[in-house]
Amino acid sequence: MWETSEQDRTVVQGRPRIVVVGAGFGGLRAVRGLRGVDAEVVLIDRVNHHLFQPLLYQVATALLPAGDIAPALRSVLRKQDNARVLLGEVTGVDAQAKTVRLSLPDGSTRALDYDTLVVAAGSTDSYFGHDEWRTHAPPMKTLANAVALRSRLLRAFENAANAEDPDERARWLTIVVVGAGPTGVELAGQVAAMTRRAFRRQFRTLDPRQARVVLVDAAPAVLPPFAEPLREHTRRELERLGVEIRLNEAVADIDADGVTTTDEDHMRHRICAPTVVWAAGVKASPLAAELAKATGAEVDRKGRLLVAPDCALPGHPEIFAIGDMVNLGDLPGMAEPALQQGHHVAKVIRSRLAGEPSPGPFRYLDLGTMATISPGDAVADIRGLRLRGLPGKIAWAGVHLAFLVGWRNRVAVLAEWAWTIATGRRTQQVILEPVRSPPGS
Ligand SMILES: Cc1cc2nc3c(=O)[nH]c(=O)nc-3n(C[C@H](O)[C@H](O)[C@H](O)COP(=O)(O)OP(=O)(O)OC[C@H]3O[C@@H](n4cnc5c(N)ncnc54)[C@H](O)[C@@H]3O)c2cc1C
Repeated sequence: MWETSEQDRTVVQGRPRIVVVGAGFGGLRAVRGLRGVDAEVVLIDRVNHHLFQPLLYQVATALLPAGDIAPALRSVLRKQDNARVLLGEVTGVDAQAKTVRLSLPDGSTRALDYDTLVVAAGSTDSYFGHDEWRTHAPPMKTLANAVALRSRLLRAFENAANAEDPDERARWLTIVVVGAGPTGVELAGQVAAMTRRAFRRQFRTLDPRQARVVLVDAAPAVLPPFAEPLREHTRRELERLGVEIRLNEAVADIDADGVTTTDEDHMRHRICAPTVVWAAGVKASPLAAELAKATGAEVDRKGRLLVAPDCALPGHPEIFAIGDMVNLGDLPGMAEPALQQGHHVAKVIRSRLAGEPSPGPFRYLDLGTMATISPGDAVADIRGLRLRGLPGKIAWAGVHLAFLVGWRNRVAVLAEWAWTIATGRRTQQVILEPVRSPPGS
């Protein structure tokens, strides 16, 4: 059991305290659903913003500024009087004492009491047991990842521009994206569009259209969750953009100079590329295992918690887990299940506080899936209605704008898109880190 501060206990004695861990899609929706309830709602996150992950690839490809997809939590919740924000990383849960353990930004630790706990800590990248690949093939999961990737991509073109040897230039102009799911497809398509349109006329010593964007996956198709006609359309469009698609090739190794793959016939292939991005796999947040340890709940082979039909942990009706870190009906790791579970859990908690009957088990309403391929093309499967090309892109843009948090961000994103469509240029072509001479040079 951990010690709690006096201040924490005093507040708990006044009103029940609901602690929500994680301000992503699920956690933030739960907090907003608790607006007006007579309780203290504490939202804990290790970053100070909500992140709209579906548009991360547009930050990584210099299209959107980071702030447009990452509103500050304090600003988002400024009008919700019963909610407060706490910047810290939750490292453990004591289910008997009803406390969460936190690391705070100043390096200190604290324990915080709860009456009800909602954990929505999402997922983390998975290298399938090859964590050593992370250095050479960073993931695109956080805002910091996307900004670092933007610098990496832009620096590769600067290095290519400086290279006098054609082979060296070709090497710098090769970008490999591992994983042909929605994230990999969107990133590969956008990188290709950036090099072919946005960089036009910007370089004197190279033709950016010669950039080679390679999309690698062990699966036999791009966008596996989508219907065959949409997958085929995506493959054709990516190839039209110049993306080289290598399916049925599993990554065997990644090092500083590139990627080695193995095909179905066990033949090995080498792609020389200093710029590799990992978009191949995720696993549940480590907090899922922590919660399982603390409560005796089970996890599946992806590390996701098995929760009761109302999203509570078995034997612990006061602890809920939602979103990417849970397996409830094996729903996909997408924003919509997390949002709907956050909404549901808020309803369950509200009804308990009001002494009303429970709203019953969680029921998922499948609103469809979509992925963008290029600036003018997207595929969408909305309850059987299959869209592609411009209609798909319009549906995609409408849904993404609707789900972005905050009107300012919606207007800002729309303005950035309009500017890029009209001019072909991107406003965020910024490498944050200056060039530094090696020590002693
Ligand atoms: C690049 C990318 C593109 C995507 N595109 C799409 C898409 O187009 N459509 C779609 O539906 N889905 C998409 N997804 C998936 C979607 O973003 C997730 O399914 C969704 O975010 C899950 O919501 P969540 O609330 O479970 O977790 P998240 O939204 O990931 O939120 C988890 C939060 O918990 C915080 N956190 C984690 N651990 C701790 C801790 N120990 N202490 C404190 N805070 C913690 C994190 O900082 C984060 O804010 C994409 C994901 C990525 C990475």
